[in-house]
Amino acid sequence: MKFGGTSVANLDRIRIVARRVKNEVAAGHSVAVVVSAMAGTTDQLVKWVEEASPLHDAREYDTVVSSGEQVTAGLLALTLQNMGVSARSWLGWQVPFRTSNIHGSARIEDIDTRQMISRLEDNIVCVMAGFQGISDDNRITTLGRGGSDTSAVALAAALDADRCDIYTDVEGVYTTDPRIVPAARKLEKITYEEMLEMASLGAKVLQTRSVAMAMNHGVRLQVLSSFTDRPGTLVVDEDEIVEKQVVSGIAYARNEAKITLVGVENTPGIAGKIFGPLADGHVNVDMIIQNISEDGKKTDLTFTVPEADVDKAKQLLETSGHVKYAKLMSDKDVVKISVIGVGMRSHTGVAARMFESLAEKGINIQVISTSEIKISVLIAAEYNELAVRALHTVFGLDSDEDA
Ligand code: ASP
Ligand code: MG
Repeated sequence: MKFGGTSVANLDRIRIVARRVKNEVAAGHSVAVVVSAMAGTTDQLVKWVEEASPLHDAREYDTVVSSGEQVTAGLLALTLQNMGVSARSWLGWQVPFRTSNIHGSARIEDIDTRQMISRLEDNIVCVMAGFQGISDDNRITTLGRGGSDTSAVALAAALDADRCDIYTDVEGVYTTDPRIVPAARKLEKITYEEMLEMASLGAKVLQTRSVAMAMNHGVRLQVLSSFTDRPGTLVVDEDEIVEKQVVSGIAYARNEAKITLVGVENTPGIAGKIFGPLADGHVNVDMIIQNISEDGKKTDLTFTVPEADVDKAKQLLETSGHVKYAKLMSDKDVVKISVIGVGMRSHTGVAARMFESLAEKGINIQVISTSEIKISVLIAAEYNELAVRALHTVFGLDSDEDA
C-alpha cells in the first residue's frame, strides 16, 4: 500500500490511512506500506535548500528533501501501534534500498528484502519511507519528484507482492482530466502501455518511471482514493482486458513549446547538427516535422521542447555555429493533445477521425506525431478544452450520465 502526500497530510488523515492498513491486516494480509511526505513538505524543503545555497551540493539536497518521508513513516508506525497493530518504520538505508549515486534522480539498483520479510513473517507491518535510498558510498539519495510511486512499485516487485495499491486523492485513472471534461469516466482497467503514455503525456496520477517498472516486473497496480471506499483503476496486462476500447483516453500537455527554423540548408547531416547540440544541452525534443521547399535546397524544421527549456534551446541553436538558417521562431502558446489506446494497433481510421473532428471545430493542427498506440497533435493552447471535449465525445468516452 502506498499513500501519497494528500493522504498523509495531517494526523487525522494518517489515522484514516492506519485504519485502512489495519483492515488489510485483519483480512489476513501481510502489509508493507510506502509513504510520501505530508503534502507540501517536499516543496518547502526544496525551497529551503535553494535559499540556503542556490548552487547546492546535490548530496545535501537529498539529505534535506528526503526528510519529509522519515516523519510520515514514523508517525504512521506510531499510529498503527496505538491501534494495536505491530508496526515499524524503515528508512531507505535501513532496508537497505540501494540506488545509483545520481543524487536528485537516483536509479534503484538493489533492494535487500531479507530483514523486512522476516519482520513481515512476524506479522509486523513495515512502513517504508518512499522516495529515498542509499548509494554505494553510504549517502542518502532521492529518486526524483514523485519518486515514492517508484519506491512502492520496486518494493512490491522485490517482495513479490500480490498487488501494489497506490492511494491518492483521485479515485483512479480517468478517460481524461475530469476538471475540463465533466463527462470523463473512471476506467476500471487500463493496460501498462496506455498508462505509460498517459503518465508521460501529462496525467499526473503516477510517476512515469513507476509505471515502466510495474510493466517490466509484472506488478499488478491499483490506483485508488484514500478518501472513499470505491474501487479504483487496475493497471494490468493487455490480455486481462476483455472489452477493448479503440481509444482509452485523451491526454493533454500544456508545457510544450514549438520552435521553427525557417530556410535551413537542405544537406545531409543537417538534422544531426540541429539536434546534437540540443541533446548535449539535455533539452528533450519531442515532436518533429521537416518540410522541403519546392527547389529542394531549403527546408523548414519544426519541433517541440519543454516550455521551460525553450530559451535554452534557442540559445544552443544560435551559438552552436554549425546550423545555418534564415529565421528562428518560437511559440509557447501551444498544447499537445493525444489520443491513446492499444486498440489502435488493430483498428484503422483513428487518425482520420481525430483530424476530422478537430477540423470540424475549426482547429488547425500544427504538428503531428504517432506511435503504435498513440496519436498526438500540437494545436494553439486556446483550443485545448474544446479539442479534448470534442475528441472525448467522438471516441465514445463520455459517461452515460453526463453525455
Ligand atoms: N515527497 C516526494 C515529492 O513530493 C516524493 C513523492 O511524494 O512521491 O516529490
Ligand atoms: Mg505523486
